[in-house]
Amino acid sequence: MPIGIPAPLVTGGGQMLQLCTRHGEGAAQHKRVLFKSKTPSWTYLLIPFGLLPFAVVAMVLEKRVRASAWPFCARCVKLRTGRLLAGIGMVVFAILAVVVLAAAVPDGTSSVGPIVLGFVALLFVGLLLGANAGWPLIASAHVSRDGSAIEVRNAHPRFAEQAAALQQWAAQQQWAAQQQWAAQQGYRQPQQWQPHHAHPQDPQQQPPGPGGTMPS
Ligand SMILES: [Zn+2]
Repeated sequence: MPIGIPAPLVTGGGQMLQLCTRHGEGAAQHKRVLFKSKTPSWTYLLIPFGLLPFAVVAMVLEKRVRASAWPFCARCVKLRTGRLLAGIGMVVFAILAVVVLAAAVPDGTSSVGPIVLGFVALLFVGLLLGANAGWPLIASAHVSRDGSAIEVRNAHPRFAEQAAALQQWAAQQQWAAQQQWAAQQGYRQPQQWQPHHAHPQDPQQQPPGPGGTMPS
């Protein structure tokens, strides 16, 4: 189920979340993760006008939230390692294949074009696989369009439960802080003013008047 976690709850430090989003299992590691918002789909309409306008608009609209300690379980860590190795493996394979083919194919044949094309394709797939290993993708989370929350797609029910409890706790903290603030305002104000009113004989505090030290 998709859920949203207010950004201030994860940027403030402290390991607020203990279960991973994907499997709902206890965190093996907490990572600093930079989450980003998705590029709005309409911005892709700018690509025909050039990559630069598209890149600039996409960058301006992008919202970022840096979670100080995002939880990942052992299976999440394994998944990341697997994707990373698959990506690196594909790139290494592409390079090896090109080297071997270049040695095997005699000079001046027409097969150079397909080899280069195949190399580029394999490289591209490898980079995609590697990019899939990013922590935000492992958490399957991104920043909301307005930048106020981290949205988790397909959150595990146990993670959703934990996130709801955290939000409730935060709301209670805020309420308690407001109560405390109101109480301080209520009690301190008369205490602060007391010295002025409690010692009217203090000459510095006595207002000058017709019945005072002025000669008649
Ligand atoms: Zn996990």
